[in-house]
Amino acid sequence: MLTDYHLHLRPDDAGTDAATYFTVANAERYRAVAGERGIAELGCAEHVYRFAQALDVWTHPLWQESAVDDIDAYVSFVREQTDLKLGIEADFIAGREDAMATLLAARDWDYVVGSVHFVGEHAVDHDGYEIWDHRPASTEALWARYFETLGEAARCGLFDVLAHPDLVKLWGAQRPVPAGDLRRFYDLAMDGIAESQIAVELSTAGLRKPVGELYPAPSFLRMCLDAGCPVALSSDAHVPGDVGRDYDAALELLGQLGVGELAVFERRERRLEAIG
Ligand SMILES: [Zn+2]
Ligand SMILES: [Zn+2]
Repeated sequence: MLTDYHLHLRPDDAGTDAATYFTVANAERYRAVAGERGIAELGCAEHVYRFAQALDVWTHPLWQESAVDDIDAYVSFVREQTDLKLGIEADFIAGREDAMATLLAARDWDYVVGSVHFVGEHAVDHDGYEIWDHRPASTEALWARYFETLGEAARCGLFDVLAHPDLVKLWGAQRPVPAGDLRRFYDLAMDGIAESQIAVELSTAGLRKPVGELYPAPSFLRMCLDAGCPVALSSDAHVPGDVGRDYDAALELLGQLGVGELAVFERRERRLEAIG
């Protein structure tokens, strides 16, 4: 069985309103592409910050301008009008874990995808809230803080899947990258990942970004596997055509690493299913 759990039913751009995208016809477009690509297990994971209720958690300017839809209408739509698993992509916001826990616990998810997009007030993946202009003393220090935060996200226990684990590399050569063996940074997240036994996402989205690589790097995934964590496979598609995109590359890596099973979720219970 193949999965694609980290799907968005709409692009991140402004003007992508719920009424247009949270429709039976749109969900069927995603299901149709998944069918063509042999992906049986499909779920959506809308960004939490697109929902008004997220402002109880954090009031960052990006969230204030994005938080317009009703999260319970989204839950009802997915449960009652689609055959998709019900997920959500929730940010790890340091210091706001209790508020995020309250938001998440009030709904009946199949799984929660946890993401580190922000380090402090600035984003590693959004040039409107550019961290590279505000980074700590050095690129090394920023990467260290990013991976420390990722470890906290795993350890906090709010999430079932750790999304795009080395997102900080998204810009590739367009931003500074530390020299040498990057495992010294990955190490900073590994205690939290190992303790939590969280499922670690292998995402093909990085292949569509300037970096042009899978998230995470093979050496990162190797460390997670050595720590005993299972893999969750996703595309992070924001349009139907990206469902399962580049899965051949992801499956090749999993084969090389000897991974034969993927994490599957239902009502926040995890089991492993054989690939293929
Ligand atoms: Zn994300
Ligand atoms: Zn996403």
